[in-house]
Amino acid sequence: MSRKMSSSGRRRASRRRSAPRATRPQVLTLAALLVVASLVAGFLALSGTDGSGTPAAAARKKPTTAPKASPTPEWDGRTKVLGDGSTSYTGPQKGQLKAVPLKPGEKPPQFVVFSWDGALEGSDHLFSHYRELAEQYNAHMTFFLTGIYLLPKSKKALYHGPMHSPGDAAIDYATDDHIRTTVEQLGKAYEDGNEIGTHFNGHFCGAKGGGDWSVKE
Ligand SMILES: [Zn+2]
Repeated sequence: MSRKMSSSGRRRASRRRSAPRATRPQVLTLAALLVVASLVAGFLALSGTDGSGTPAAAARKKPTTAPKASPTPEWDGRTKVLGDGSTSYTGPQKGQLKAVPLKPGEKPPQFVVFSWDGALEGSDHLFSHYRELAEQYNAHMTFFLTGIYLLPKSKKALYHGPMHSPGDAAIDYATDDHIRTTVEQLGKAYEDGNEIGTHFNGHFCGAKGGGDWSVKE
């Protein structure tokens, strides 16, 4: 379960419930939410920038009817904690997609959205595999990171999900080695301009899975 796309979150839980699922081809074990969205209503095309982008080219194509994008506020160099503190704004990220207005009458492109559940670089190496594919094809993806994948098993009691005992989680904790490889991949994914999203930590679904949690919890 992720904050951004809640339908993407069933892989770990379902694997635990039904063993036969584990025999599926490896390529399926990192569940992908692949949405082919023809955004006819969409107005903006997305194009990659590498920090040395050419806004001038976009400006030349600007149709007279296009709304003006508000300028990005300047970053003061400080990390800003967002919301409940589970994530922060750490400044502008290089290589992110930039919205570019279409020319009048220009056909909107087809968008394909890739988002990955869990973002663990485990022994199947699927995180690095798909990150490298994205790099190769100049695609940008969203990797939803489960917080406990960065918490060593020896310290699991530090995670206390609502209505559960300290250390309880519906998914497995990563090995220390896999925490290291995951951090490495997260850094590379960020550098490549991919999005790192927040994944629901304990992956609790069904009973005591959040439906009866209070706002405070
Ligand atoms: Zn999930």
